[in-house]
Amino acid sequence: MPDLVKLYGSKVFNDTVMRQRLPKQSYNEVKRVARDYSALTLDIANSVAACMKEWAVEQGVTHFTHWFQPMTGSTAEKHDSFISPIGPTGSQAIAEFSGKELIKGEPDASSFPSGGIRATFEARGYTIWDVTSPAFIKGNVLCIPTAFCSYSGEALDQKTPLLRSMQAINKQAKRVLKVLGTETEGVLTTVGAEQEYFIVDDSVLDKRPDLLYTGRTLLGARPPRGQEMEDHYFGALKTRIAEYMEDLDVELWKLGVTSKTRHNEVAPAQHELAPIFSTTNIAADHNQLVMETIKTVARKHGLAALLHEKPFAGVNGSGKHNNWAIGTVEGENLLDPGDTPAKNARFLLFLAAIIKAVDEYQDLLRISVATAGNDHRLGANEAPPAIISMFVGEELDQVLQAIKNSQEYVGPGKIPMSIGVDALPSIPKDTTDRNRTSPFAFTGNKFEFRMPGSNVSISLANTVLNTTVAESLAFFAEILEKEKKRDINERIKLIVRNTMAKHERIIFNGNNYAPEWVDEAKKRGLLNLQSTVEALPLFVAKKNTELFEKHGVLTEGEAESRLELMLENYAKTIHYEALTLIDMVHRDVDPAVIAYETDVAKLAKKLKDLGLPNENELSLLKKLTGLGGASAKALAKLEETVVVAEGGKDTLEIATRYRKEVFASMQELRAIADELEMVVASKHWPYPTYGDILYGVR
Ligand code: ADP
Ligand code: MG
Repeated sequence: MPDLVKLYGSKVFNDTVMRQRLPKQSYNEVKRVARDYSALTLDIANSVAACMKEWAVEQGVTHFTHWFQPMTGSTAEKHDSFISPIGPTGSQAIAEFSGKELIKGEPDASSFPSGGIRATFEARGYTIWDVTSPAFIKGNVLCIPTAFCSYSGEALDQKTPLLRSMQAINKQAKRVLKVLGTETEGVLTTVGAEQEYFIVDDSVLDKRPDLLYTGRTLLGARPPRGQEMEDHYFGALKTRIAEYMEDLDVELWKLGVTSKTRHNEVAPAQHELAPIFSTTNIAADHNQLVMETIKTVARKHGLAALLHEKPFAGVNGSGKHNNWAIGTVEGENLLDPGDTPAKNARFLLFLAAIIKAVDEYQDLLRISVATAGNDHRLGANEAPPAIISMFVGEELDQVLQAIKNSQEYVGPGKIPMSIGVDALPSIPKDTTDRNRTSPFAFTGNKFEFRMPGSNVSISLANTVLNTTVAESLAFFAEILEKEKKRDINERIKLIVRNTMAKHERIIFNGNNYAPEWVDEAKKRGLLNLQSTVEALPLFVAKKNTELFEKHGVLTEGEAESRLELMLENYAKTIHYEALTLIDMVHRDVDPAVIAYETDVAKLAKKLKDLGLPNENELSLLKKLTGLGGASAKALAKLEETVVVAEGGKDTLEIATRYRKEVFASMQELRAIADELEMVVASKHWPYPTYGDILYGVR
């Protein structure tokens, strides 16, 4: 086992390193700027850059990059060398890295998607150092986490709105805390993103174009031995996987990601990694690093990591549990019920803020996890459903009900309690996943948002959480600030009561997977946005653009361009999938079927010539030609739908056609191909089967 303490954060220009290496004044400035979301002066930036370069060069670093998260969903980097030629002939060189290079970069914005912003605004873009997220080393490159904006300041990335939303919630939460008498330098949100993924043997990718190009299998019959065996969950790790995970942990620790790679998940070949939580923007950066590292370390071990939400139909999909809480910079968790009456009152107020936010902005939360990949999980046969609801647990539910009905809550000791005077009953921490089916569950001192897909950036989900809760807090702050005469606990009680009266419908403690919930949710008037294309247009509903504008998170123009991009991404994904499937059926499946048909036909004829019965061969042949014919028809239809979809008049129409026509046709073709897979002799079948893939790592 490697020396953990020495390894941890060894590739990160973190607080400890900064404290050791930066002049005291520079260190204090960096800290202040991080806290106030302001900008570094060039002097200080120069001093930080010089120390950073020295530290990096000591570790063999030769290049630096501004590392950012464009709207493609992954990360981007453009490497620049530290080396600057000097002297008249450039024959000598020195390692250089200026403060200007540290705080600002100018990548060519035109190579990244902007959703129309470039047309309306300016072509150039620049990256700015996110001082709150530490620089790190990857290979021989110093990576500086940055935000990416157009020249006139419009967000072109995932990080910018997230940082803006953190400022918004900081501002509004501080207003509320001021009235409550809680002193704090600032409020931030924290996130721990649990990551699920599949590991298969690397050689599989050479044999499955669908996995290689689209990240998921576009055809494949279920394995004879599926996850119903449930022997994988918490099962003993195979040696190869265990070695991989150890290596993965080490690489992540070096990057300062406190990962605990864990047990096998529900499906065969599925695994999970949980980091220890951190400030939300850092958690979002870390999750990008986690996804990248999961893949690169796998390759070193002759393995391939699949991060797609649904690599295998009929087998459990992969998600990302976004554990989210609000806390003070001093380290107090505001979602901790606490054990004093005053803390309880504060907790109930923040809880009410979240209840109101989740109910009023169900659409935004749904949109924040809407991708082509996640459509295979949400609202499909696999939970969580596409309906947003929240779980608070029985104890809290009783407290909230009592407040709503103006009754004294009678605690477990049968003693009535009132807000701010008595302590709440102790709320059990979630150790057993008390309600695994809820999409948004209170788990003792945080909420676990379980809808994000395994393959997406968590930035938008957290931007939405921060902004919508900031809005509730702003609303509460106004009431609290105005009615100064009334007793504070009375004011809180009133707010909680009114919130419950209006938003109680969003609380659901039952089984979210039950079919009855769909009907019940409908009666309650909750949204049930089944697919990405149904959800996305609501992103620019008036109430939503107003919310983003009010809190300075996205302008209307930025919101519109983001919608455009999300629709475009959706259409592109299905487009590539359709083309890949068409290619596979044309070039691999059809020839395999023909080859097998030829074998069977030859045999049938031979038997007949010999005067032997050949009914079995003939009936098999009939089945093969029947399915082959159906497949040809479905293939032609799929090709046709792609052409029709591309002819849509705008991005929404194109995306909708991809969902309604193209995706549906892919499903039809797949069903036939999967039936063929069950009939065609395995020596003719062109692809490794689900069984080969899922049980292939030994
Ligand atoms: P387990 O799932 O093993 O019971 P926990 O429930 O304690 O573990 O944590 C699950 C995830 O939630 C971890 O990534 C953890 O870091 C994160 N988490 C714990 N507390 C918080 C918090 N206050 N804010 C955000 N995430 C948190
Ligand atoms: Mg979890």
